Amino acid sequence: MSFNIAIDGPAGAGKSTVAKWLAEMISFLYVDTGAMYRAMAYAFLTRDIPADDAAALRTACEESHVSLAYVDGQQRVFLNGMDVTDQIRREEVGNMASAISGYPFVREKLLDMQRELATENDVIMDGRDIGTCVLPDAQLKIYLTASVHTRALRRWRELSEKGQNCALEEIEKDIEERDYRDTHREIAPLKAADDAVTVDSSDLNIDEVVLKIRELAAAAGLRPGRGVHGEG
Ligand code: C5P
Repeated sequence: MSFNIAIDGPAGAGKSTVAKWLAEMISFLYVDTGAMYRAMAYAFLTRDIPADDAAALRTACEESHVSLAYVDGQQRVFLNGMDVTDQIRREEVGNMASAISGYPFVREKLLDMQRELATENDVIMDGRDIGTCVLPDAQLKIYLTASVHTRALRRWRELSEKGQNCALEEIEKDIEERDYRDTHREIAPLKAADDAVTVDSSDLNIDEVVLKIRELAAAAGLRPGRGVHGEG
């Protein structure tokens, strides 16, 4: 049986960085489910479909095939066979992903793929509904959060490093709006699973968060050397 670690939490809490580091450390597969929603959003954006045109979105969703591949342990995301890993990181794609992730037809399409990956592999999967919906039987569930200001600041730094200039207040506003949509949608809203451990990363650095989750994984039964390549 595979060992599954679910990490949920709001945008910018550090889920993907932490999950990536930990996955490397314990040789688990890292599955970034947000990237799947982003790929679907990218498909809609390239077709110029507005987020409220449900009928057109449904058709485009049926015609869009999202897949993942792992190159040197790094997740690459494909849309209809085209590598869109870099394109989907843009802010407008993230906002569109948040706007379309409430449609049941979008979620259903991605859910099977997520479950299959977790059945076949030891995974660290991050998203919004992993502990509550996708992997309710995960051996460890983490709800990783941080204050809006901390999250906005991290995002601002990330964008600045890439040479993309954005006002901090804009990012804060985007994050608040996204949090609101993610926590208030009808299907699979963002929330901590009843049996999740909440970790607030506002005052912790990445190392501290990774080590904390690793300790929790050990307490949940993860034994050294269990990962796909054996622990390094
Ligand atoms: O995590 P990331 O910011 O890349 O996710 C983009 C959007 O995809 C989120 O704002 C959320 O609306 C949606 N999402 C989701 N369920 C997941 C992962 C992401 O609804 N499991």
